[in-house]
Amino acid sequence: EVVDFKLFINRVIDRFEMTHKEDVVFTRHIPDAPLFTDISVDKMGQVLDNVLSNAIKYQHGEPKRVDIHLKQNTLYNRMTIRIKDYGLGIPNNKVERIFDRFYRVDKGRARKMGGTGLGLAISKEIIEAHNGKIWANSVENEGTTIFINLPCEVIEEDEWDV
Ligand code: ATP
Ligand code: MG
Repeated sequence: EVVDFKLFINRVIDRFEMTHKEDVVFTRHIPDAPLFTDISVDKMGQVLDNVLSNAIKYQHGEPKRVDIHLKQNTLYNRMTIRIKDYGLGIPNNKVERIFDRFYRVDKGRARKMGGTGLGLAISKEIIEAHNGKIWANSVENEGTTIFINLPCEVIEEDEWDV
């Protein structure tokens, strides 16, 4: 279904903000202009739920901080979503593997925190089914950024006039 991704992601963040009033500060860098894209709202919601939950889960100390950026690339009919945390980070040689099924960086830590280690593997499947890409950048003890690149509909300036 075609949705305004700006509205969609704002709603997801609103929901997280409500349940994390006390412990997380969310910063949004989201443009005002609508950004249309054809997605499964359910599945994309699952992806954002997991990535945002990870950003909170793998971050200690308070307040936790999560920055969300949304940017359109007008040249290629694509947009990029960036979700940045200031948490535990991931060792360099393990960053690639977080998208593998059941992979968890620290098994002991992961067991205590619950979950299955499937979140990012499922997220990757969903993003790829939407002709998108998902990847991570991370520095141990500094934080992690998850990037999601997806197709979107570019509204050309000359189309505004008609
Ligand atoms: P599930 O999502 O199934 O509840 P999970 O969160 O452990 O469990 P994934 O979301 O697939 O599984 O993440 C895989 C692993 O990647 C995590 O166990 C964690 O070690 C690491 N990871 C994911 N996101 C972050 C992050 N933002 N900061 C640090 N480590 C992360
Ligand atoms: Mg997870």
